[in-house]
Amino acid sequence: VRFHLNNIRDKKHLNAFLSVYEDEALARAAEIDKKIKLGTAGKLAGLVVGLKDVLAYKDHPLQASSRVLDGFISQFNGTAVQRLLDEDAIIIGRQNCDEFAMGSSNENSAFGPVLNDADNTRVPGGSSGGSAVAVQADMCQVSLGSDTGGSVRQPAAFCGLVGLKPTYSRISRFGLIAYGSSFDCIGIFGKSVEDVALVLEVIAGPDEADSTVSQLPVPSYSKALQGSDNKKYKVAYVREIDDSQGLQPEIKESILAKLDAIEADGHSVEVIDFPLQEFVLPTYYILATAEASSNLSRYDGVRYGYRSQQATDLSSLYKKSRSEGFGKEVQRRILLGTFVLSASYYDAYYTKAQKVRRLIRDKTKEILKHYDFIVMPITPTTAFKLGEHTDNPLEMYLADLFSVQANVVGVPAIAIPCGTDKQGLPIGLQVIADDFEESKLLHFSNTLL
Ligand code: GLN
Repeated sequence: VRFHLNNIRDKKHLNAFLSVYEDEALARAAEIDKKIKLGTAGKLAGLVVGLKDVLAYKDHPLQASSRVLDGFISQFNGTAVQRLLDEDAIIIGRQNCDEFAMGSSNENSAFGPVLNDADNTRVPGGSSGGSAVAVQADMCQVSLGSDTGGSVRQPAAFCGLVGLKPTYSRISRFGLIAYGSSFDCIGIFGKSVEDVALVLEVIAGPDEADSTVSQLPVPSYSKALQGSDNKKYKVAYVREIDDSQGLQPEIKESILAKLDAIEADGHSVEVIDFPLQEFVLPTYYILATAEASSNLSRYDGVRYGYRSQQATDLSSLYKKSRSEGFGKEVQRRILLGTFVLSASYYDAYYTKAQKVRRLIRDKTKEILKHYDFIVMPITPTTAFKLGEHTDNPLEMYLADLFSVQANVVGVPAIAIPCGTDKQGLPIGLQVIADDFEESKLLHFSNTLL
């Protein structure tokens, strides 16, 4: 714990943490040391974990990096957090992120941007940027983030980490601040697949507090990693991505080189067509903003956090609290979402996007019937400069081109490090598997490192 606290102190300029629970973490470590001596310590004894500021930790601040939740203190533990504590993990602090997890660079936080530890002039990715940098800079061993459209995998790629988005519904969302509820997943950052697998098996599984969570039993993911390496898989690579104009050449080269290595290892690799590729991003942004506009209606200046002092009546209380409390990008998403849900445009946008989502899911599932994995980039570029895309939201949304498919479909996907570009910036490789195939996904990914 002291080692990590020192790193947090030394690298304060990275702005990864919003709160550090120093005394608590040290006290807990001392308690766990005693348990270890008695042989009663849990499975994660002493694992130092950080939480993205969207996960409820009882009696600690929680505000999704937003002014609108100023002063809000969580009254309960989210299920994933409770399960970590039950197995004797140590929570070291609350991590900076894009406001309400909306963003791809961590520049939308009310607390300022997070800097990438590989190059302080560059973004760490988003929205779970603080969680990624915290692991990158050894401020904790593992972080929990949330992945609605890539927010764990994309920053993992920009920071050279392993980042897992499990199958939708594999981990309870109880105690996770909602963004797009049909996409939201808690995800895990680590430096190794082993760490991620171990945490997943602790936090996944049925939960009475979340009616959407899967009832399927949770296998031992960490044991699955020890399985024999002789299994040969069928891997698909999407032609449309290969042809994609915006893909940085070095990313393409590293992924093709990795695919060659996969083939040389005795697996089969085939190039396949996915003609729906161009519809994935627009589908995501229509549906995620629609859900966000509904989810964020609860922040009304009455129930939680921030309340405007300028209000003169009830309607101005709502308007002013929301206008002053929410940042620009969140307001943009609420407006977009409200527009696509409005009576005159509902069918043209929302209903249409739902239909396209179904087509994308069916087509992806069809591919995953014939292949064990789909391999693709996570991001079109490596970590970009701070401020590079802040004036152009569309450009920023394009950073999510390859990460949103797994969320639109619901299947699990992982980011693993795959070399660096000429400037030494990390490149990430994405592997996607079928629903609830995390054991296979983790096992295969581990052999690629
Ligand atoms: N960058 C995407 C967005 O802004 C994904 C965010 C996320 O996964 N939370 O919607």
